[in-house]
Amino acid sequence: MAITDLRQQFPILQRMVKDRPLVYFDNAATSQKPQCVIDALSHYYSHYNANIHRGIHTLAEEATLAYEASRIAVKEFIGADSTEEIIFTRGTTEAINLVAYTWGRANVQQGDEILISGMEHHSNIVPWQILCEEKQAILKVIPVTEEGELSLEAFKELLSIKTKLVAVVHVSNSLGTINPVNELITAAHLVGARVLIDGAQSAVHLDIDVQKMDCDFFAFSGHKVYGPTGVGVLYGKRELLQDMPVFQGGGEMIKEVTFERTTYNDLPYKYEAGTPNIADTIVLKTALDFIQQAGKAEIREHEAMLLAYATTRLKAIPGLSIVGEAKAKASLVSFVVKGVHPQDIGVLLDNMGIAVRTGHHCTQPLMKRFGIPGTVRASFALYNQQEEIDVFIAGLQKTLKMLQ
Ligand code: PLP
Repeated sequence: MAITDLRQQFPILQRMVKDRPLVYFDNAATSQKPQCVIDALSHYYSHYNANIHRGIHTLAEEATLAYEASRIAVKEFIGADSTEEIIFTRGTTEAINLVAYTWGRANVQQGDEILISGMEHHSNIVPWQILCEEKQAILKVIPVTEEGELSLEAFKELLSIKTKLVAVVHVSNSLGTINPVNELITAAHLVGARVLIDGAQSAVHLDIDVQKMDCDFFAFSGHKVYGPTGVGVLYGKRELLQDMPVFQGGGEMIKEVTFERTTYNDLPYKYEAGTPNIADTIVLKTALDFIQQAGKAEIREHEAMLLAYATTRLKAIPGLSIVGEAKAKASLVSFVVKGVHPQDIGVLLDNMGIAVRTGHHCTQPLMKRFGIPGTVRASFALYNQQEEIDVFIAGLQKTLKMLQ
């Protein structure tokens, strides 16, 4: 099926907002869901809702099989070596925190350094700040250039044998920049550092192959890949996951419990304490299958067209500057307009049924770097159309006339 036909599979895109057809350009925050994902959730609760792994009855077996099928789908989606390397979490944030609390506590000592970048989401800053404070380790930051790229020269200067971890975002949620993760990972490994890639924005746009990339950890969220909220993934190399201490304690992560001593379960269950988010995890597979059927290359081509068109149209607006003009970008464009607050633009666009994101996008240090309070961000998904960009540009022009 052609990419443009897939739009019909997203029922929410039929709705009206403020008496206008919805134009949804807030995909970097969360994507809309195709009918197959909505149906799969309802099917689970209507047909085989049960707790997993422990029951011997039919429903429990069906639910367990579907849950583990989702793990296989994730393994294939990101090119992992084994399902033992796929840990289900609540999302990217929890996946990063899991690494900070387990691998971080065990491997980072006083005086060690953790290297993040100046374009990180707060979810890939705060867990490392907490760890560094606890361990008296040092957090260092790779600077961002005026174009919104990472300074690779500065990165190489910051790297040293003191660097224990490099934690960087694959695709910036504020600028759209695609970072050269292969190069970063190779350089980091040369000094013996581990690398965590925040794939919250990349998993939906780029082909991910964690083995080729050779990252040590990779995290992403279900809700940004056309799947449900409340489920995410931590990939970790098996030898690292095997050696790391446990995260939360409770059911499923145990092998045997006595009052004297508890032994822990094998991978990947060792990190999945308590009843997990069964329904949403199962349905994550439906979302990943949907993307695979659409074809990542086709999606990429369509989204690149949308980005190029939106960028050209935006650049023609007087007083408007695009924030982040990296050579490699995903389908996301952030901008500011001289003398106009981003939030005012967002409110007026919403009055025309156009959903964009305004503000700091959970990247306050990056906004500080550019000396701005925030941006207006339009982020595109496979179901967006060129005509919607025309509606958005016309709405923006009208908005600016009112505000300037
Ligand atoms: N990292 C990046 C780059 C993001 O864009 C986001 C979400 O916007 C996150 C991390 C956090 O993801 P979640 O809120 O799904 O845990």
